Amino acid sequence: MVNQLNDYRCDFPILDQIVNDEPLVYLDNAATTQKPQAVIDRLVAYYQNDNANVHRGVHTLAERATAQYEAARTKVQTFIHAAASAEVIFTKGTTQSLNWVAGSFGPTVVEAGDEIMISVMEHHSNLVPWQQLAQKTGAKLRYIDLLPDGQLDLESARQVIGPKTKIVSLAHASNVLGVVNPIKTIAALVHAQGGYMVVDGAQAVPHMMVDVQALDADFYAFSGHKMLGPTGIGVLYGKQALLEQMPPVEYGGEMIDFVGLQSSTFKELPWRLEGGTPNIAGAIGLGAAIDYLTQIGMANIQAHEQALVTMALPQLQAIDGLTIYGPQDAAQRTGVIAFNLDNLHPHDLATALDMEGVAVRAGHHCAQPLMRWLNVAATARASFYLYNTEADVKTFVTAIQAAKEFFQNGTL
Ligand code: PMP
Repeated sequence: MVNQLNDYRCDFPILDQIVNDEPLVYLDNAATTQKPQAVIDRLVAYYQNDNANVHRGVHTLAERATAQYEAARTKVQTFIHAAASAEVIFTKGTTQSLNWVAGSFGPTVVEAGDEIMISVMEHHSNLVPWQQLAQKTGAKLRYIDLLPDGQLDLESARQVIGPKTKIVSLAHASNVLGVVNPIKTIAALVHAQGGYMVVDGAQAVPHMMVDVQALDADFYAFSGHKMLGPTGIGVLYGKQALLEQMPPVEYGGEMIDFVGLQSSTFKELPWRLEGGTPNIAGAIGLGAAIDYLTQIGMANIQAHEQALVTMALPQLQAIDGLTIYGPQDAAQRTGVIAFNLDNLHPHDLATALDMEGVAVRAGHHCAQPLMRWLNVAATARASFYLYNTEADVKTFVTAIQAAKEFFQNGTL
């Protein structure tokens, strides 16, 4: 099982390099992923052959660029099982998508005295925009509890989601705890109260099959760069009726229909929400990433990451003084593992791993409230993707053991 995807590693030219005299083992995929040659080639081909602005020109290159940009939208629609391509809005990424929902849709439904519900595991980009909305409207920002192992407490959700709840916004998968939240169940709870379900899918869409209709999400946000695509491109999915209700954040070129001296009319969805020249190459690159992921199959990718975690977790748990955050059972986890080694700052640990060619992240992972909940200042974090291998897990575990030895006994 673990080896079934190893062939894909050779599609990623960046992985074939030496870092600090060691072959690179890239385990920082929750931050951003590497790009397969197919995505790199697609970007180059677009700029070499077809570059033009979209939607405005009648010349051949403009028509080609427009067709490719819109084809990318349809690829996203199919990938996340949206009902219509008009429900797929291209943005800069998850952060922008969530800010648009909180900043533009939020005020159309939230009033003073209402409640907005999130959880303490949220990334800052699914937390700070809701704080801002609560402050501006006089609504109350409330938190659904977590269970001691970091999973969302469904009992708490049932208790706190009530008639005042206008919006619940949750990560589909945590970027620290490795848990997947029961979005469909929570969506049913919030819909029963007449509220809306917003989902931060940054750590889910790259790693599992996502069906926004089956989840019954009202809005769903994710980033291209975490799923083999370029940086600077992401998606805001929204149910059409709700996107219609959402005022554009930006007014200007590309999104207008008729402009008068005192007032204007706007295009229909999705273009109404995409003011200015969009990230055309980024969208086309994301389309190529989706083709690549689809060819492998999301179920295969998920199974592969599951196998890597199943292999890594017991080996990490066996290291004396190493704490893993989140559920301790691999079956309850995604490919994200946050950890600390007793008495060692995670930055020192990450630096020691880097000396062995192993790239992991250290810090608060844009989740300061979660760090406080875990009672730590920071953690180290390894995160797997489809191109990681059994050998990567071995190198990673061995490098941690060597770092522990070095910092405790001064020997390598
Ligand atoms: N939410 C989660 C759960 C994330 O992991 C990230 C990226 N670390 C984001 C939101 C923000 O994504 P971006 O920086 O691409 O906007």
